[in-house]
Amino acid sequence: MTTLSLRALETYERPTSPFSPDRVQGLYIAGEWVPARAGRNIESVDPTTQKVITKFSAAGIEDVNDAVAAARRAFLDPSWSDIDPDVRSQWLWRIAELVKRHAEELATLESLDMGGPIGLTRWMMQHVAEVFRHYAGWPTKIYGQTAPSDAAHLNYTLRQPHGVVAAVYAWNGPLLQMSYKAAPALATGNTLILKPAEQASLSTLRFAELLAEVELPPGVVNVVTGLGAEAGEALVTHLDVNKVSFTGSHGVGGHILAASTNNLKRVTLELGGKSPTIVFADADLEAAAAAAAVGFCAGSGQGCVAGSRILVQREVEKEFTDLLLAQMSSAVLGDPFHAETTMGPMASRSHFERVSGYVALAREEGARVLTFGEPPGGSLYLAPTLLVDVTNNMRVVQEEIFGPVAALLPFDTAEEAVALGNDIIYGLAASVWTRDLTTAHLVAARLEAGTVWVNTYGEMSAGSMPFGGFKQSGIGREHGVNVLDAYTETKSVVVRL
Ligand code: NAP
Ligand code: MG
Repeated sequence: MTTLSLRALETYERPTSPFSPDRVQGLYIAGEWVPARAGRNIESVDPTTQKVITKFSAAGIEDVNDAVAAARRAFLDPSWSDIDPDVRSQWLWRIAELVKRHAEELATLESLDMGGPIGLTRWMMQHVAEVFRHYAGWPTKIYGQTAPSDAAHLNYTLRQPHGVVAAVYAWNGPLLQMSYKAAPALATGNTLILKPAEQASLSTLRFAELLAEVELPPGVVNVVTGLGAEAGEALVTHLDVNKVSFTGSHGVGGHILAASTNNLKRVTLELGGKSPTIVFADADLEAAAAAAAVGFCAGSGQGCVAGSRILVQREVEKEFTDLLLAQMSSAVLGDPFHAETTMGPMASRSHFERVSGYVALAREEGARVLTFGEPPGGSLYLAPTLLVDVTNNMRVVQEEIFGPVAALLPFDTAEEAVALGNDIIYGLAASVWTRDLTTAHLVAARLEAGTVWVNTYGEMSAGSMPFGGFKQSGIGREHGVNVLDAYTETKSVVVRL
């Protein structure tokens, strides 16, 4: 087995953050930057150096109340609610241009804050700009319908925004997840409160600072940073929040759904996964192995669509495993700003410990653990790790690990591949590798997954394709032609003439 390259682990030309270590970044409420009322702050830590980047405010209930009140005022204000939809389009377009112009700075901040390689965060910023550009087209195309009626009536429907939308999201791609929520929410005329993850709030804070250039009415976009259990909890239980759009873990997602019953908030949930990569014997095995490795190692495996269960047709199991191990061994763990780096650190110490715990559990459960090299002790790096000789009922095969760890299982027939692929609580994504069109389409049709990639992996649309999960991977879809359903109410107007 070759040894994993650790050559780029040394600190490498680290760019500076626009936030200095002694500054405390406030909350963004009603167009103003304000400190948290209770004066509490959170330290933002760079997981590569494990040094504090800066501090930001930890919002409490009173701050969240202020933000919700500001968003409600903005929602009712004619400068937002009565505006020509074309003006709303222009605002969204300007946000897209803004992100494009500041892409390097925003990508840098995310790489500093959560350790993603700069190539990945640069890609994410281009994607964020594309998402806002996609939704800039929507405001002028939100139609109601005229319903058939007798001559004494005029019956029609209107599509109207919910009101105040809370967007709560995770640390692995903060602005990307924000854009999937904020762009459709604003396009449909809602107002917003953004709550990024405590481990990676800086890009959202800088985005909000930059928004001044767009001149949205104050209170249309607000940011409350803070702890999930406090700021997040206050938002998702607030009686004047109409909708929560959430990206994060299965556990918190279920909690948000339960909390929504106090005022029947509308809820969209984008949760975790344990997605199968299914490789048939007739596939281009080299391409499949390369994609399978990227599928669970990109972003150091901290991706909701990570292909962390690799199912291989038995007759090519040995050949494919060797190809996959070769791909894994070419990973470069290193500083996120080093051009050669393909994998940064885990985003935080607590997450590093959680993933390491799963690798230990794999050994206890009897799996054979194939990995490359030992990252330096004390660092938050983890090498690509393949679990073989596993059974589908092991916890490490059933639970989302969210690190560079995949389990490999053989199968004999397409039926067995589908059954194994679906034998899990999740259903976010899957990929199928075969040269046989019939197999590809039949398997794609039978997999319980919100997205199925065929002979490719991880390609995301900037708005045209629906994204979300079957089963316990979520509720609802982001993007797609039906996205309006997720951000508007339908009103029937019955007029007696
Ligand atoms: P998480 O713990 O669920 O946190 C997500 C967000 O929820 C954070 O902003 C968090 O704040 C907040 N939060 C925590 N407790 C809360 C509460 N009681 N009420 C309201 N908000 C609360 O998720 P994570 O572990 O950071 O992220 C990884 C998970 O996200 C994985 O399961 C992954 O699969 C999933 N994910 C899904 C997608 C998708 O599109 N399907 C994309 C990316 C990630 P704090 O950070 O301050 O605790
Ligand atoms: Mg951080």
